Amino acid sequence: IIITPDEFKSVSEAAREDGRAPDEIRPLKIEAGILERADGSSYLELGGNKILVAVYGPREAQIKKLQRPDRAVIRCRYNMAPFSVEERKRPGPDRRSVEISKITAEALRPALILEKFPRSVIDVFIEVLEAEGGTRCAGITAASVALADAGMPMKDMVVACAAGKVNGKIVLDLSEEEDKRGEADMPVAILPRNKEITLLQSDGNLTQEEFEEALDLAIKGCLKINKVQKEALKRKYGE
Ligand code: UDP
Repeated sequence: IIITPDEFKSVSEAAREDGRAPDEIRPLKIEAGILERADGSSYLELGGNKILVAVYGPREAQIKKLQRPDRAVIRCRYNMAPFSVEERKRPGPDRRSVEISKITAEALRPALILEKFPRSVIDVFIEVLEAEGGTRCAGITAASVALADAGMPMKDMVVACAAGKVNGKIVLDLSEEEDKRGEADMPVAILPRNKEITLLQSDGNLTQEEFEEALDLAIKGCLKINKVQKEALKRKYGE
């Protein structure tokens, strides 16, 4: 096969294996309120990720030690199904899922008006049914929709998206393959209205300039994803 220099340039500029532009997220679908027995729920697909979130509460904390006299406490459990990844995941919590559960609660907390529910607890269960890179961000995005569906008073939604560096280029919403091959992955969560950052992690190396470019791109990704969150809630509840 012979390709012209122009064709070569356009192929190398596309650069991403799935043909996405650097600032393009994977196909995204969000549905609100799909579980009958939970107080709030959501289902999200982002590329090959499939994630279900159930919210219970706010309800009185059964464990006295957990209660706070002036506010509710949010607990998150991020769990990967054994069949969600290529190599069977051993059931039960591990270091990674404990970490993701913790940072998810921290990313969501600033949006919640917890003072309205003293001595209460809100439980958020994030079940990853299929994983293909970027599940912590997708989990936070879906959890926020499920919390809104539960009627939890919130200052804003929380939305998350990663940016990173693959083949020397700053790209949005890394796939599992890009995460593995790439030089850096940086998950970011924000409150979209005032762009307050509630999560910023970084795995890999970025220069100051690359960091700034990646942060800008992640925020742009978050704003796109936020539109899909709002549409999901509108479909369920109308305007
Ligand atoms: N992954 C896997 N097995 C595991 C953990 C992760 O195959 O036990 C895959 C999965 O597709 C996940 C990706 O590796 O989405 C990247 O994982 P990471 O820890 O970076 O978290 P994530 O990007 O999902 O937030």
